[in-house]
Amino acid sequence: MPETHQPETHQVVILGSGPAGLTAAIYTARANLAPFVIEGEPSSTSDQPGGQLMLTTEVENYPGFVEGVLGPDLMTQFRDQAARFGAQFLTRKAKRVDFSSRPFRIWTESTEGEPDILAQVLIVATGARAVMLNVPGEAELIGHGVSTCATCDGFFFRNQKIVVVGGGDSALEEASFLTRFGESVTVVHRRKELRASKIMQDRAFANDKIDFIWDSVVTEVLGDGKVSGVALTNIVTGEQSTLDTSGVFVAIGHVPNTSVFAGELDMDENGYIKTTDGTRTNVDGVFACGDVQDHIYRQAITSAGSGCMAAIDAERWLEAKGEA
Ligand code: NAP
Repeated sequence: MPETHQPETHQVVILGSGPAGLTAAIYTARANLAPFVIEGEPSSTSDQPGGQLMLTTEVENYPGFVEGVLGPDLMTQFRDQAARFGAQFLTRKAKRVDFSSRPFRIWTESTEGEPDILAQVLIVATGARAVMLNVPGEAELIGHGVSTCATCDGFFFRNQKIVVVGGGDSALEEASFLTRFGESVTVVHRRKELRASKIMQDRAFANDKIDFIWDSVVTEVLGDGKVSGVALTNIVTGEQSTLDTSGVFVAIGHVPNTSVFAGELDMDENGYIKTTDGTRTNVDGVFACGDVQDHIYRQAITSAGSGCMAAIDAERWLEAKGEA
């Protein structure tokens, strides 16, 4: 006889365990809603779930930590705080969802058969990931000179030579911001023309601290324990060179982790979930928070803030239905 599969039903299920998901867990746990967090799985660049902060070292801009805090330590504290109030965790990824009726159905194992988890309310906090170059040295040196966030890490590169990779608005925004700290900022772009908006280009071209290396790609991040340079190839001439630098900011775009919600939730043209009235999605009872619906601010603190909003929205939604 095959085993009968009994899906677990939870009042509140949270997908994702970065600052947004875990803040939503803290708030819903303290509201006695017994949140169940499907926290994701270790990735190729991190041995634990927990989102993008698992890939950073020192975080100095999260309020409350005068001396700064390591990204992974901060996420451990968030998680422990949620667990303290009764949040439960499942270290798996959602592989398929069905939001067509309540309870919402979530598959975390195989996509065959019955779902594993049923949710009366769902909070989506699956975040986004920076697109990486995928060149030798990059993964090893993340948090040791390779960064994807100038706001987070620029401060560590005072009076040093910095490289920014990319030619879009993010790259130029990062480059402009980094000139506050760095001795110089070199933007390496794979074409001769920038993709960035004209105003960002004008600003970058007018900045004496920014220079450009055109038609070139980074083929390797160099350094032993910390970044010391990049290897470059000019894709027009084939010429190879190296450039000394202490910091490599990869700014070639972000991708929201939303593929599993395709056809279920409304998204913008870049795949970010659309929210209205706070954190509501187009599906009644499904809320979204953090980088999965925010391509503008992308900070731990804004993410945590929207996680709090989603928890309060979810709680009020359940209360209005007489289910809280
Ligand atoms: P983006 O516009 O997609 O630009 C990505 C850049 O990275 C492009 O220049 C691209 O080169 C380059 N690139 C992509 N893959 C690469 C690779 N493997 N190796 C080397 N270079 C690579 O991404 P974004 O700059 O993150 O911007 C995303 C969206 O947010 C845009 O709509 C942007 O306008 C918006 N944004 C706005 C602001 C602002 O207004 N303040 C700030 C940031 C972002 P190609 O040009 O050759 O394709």
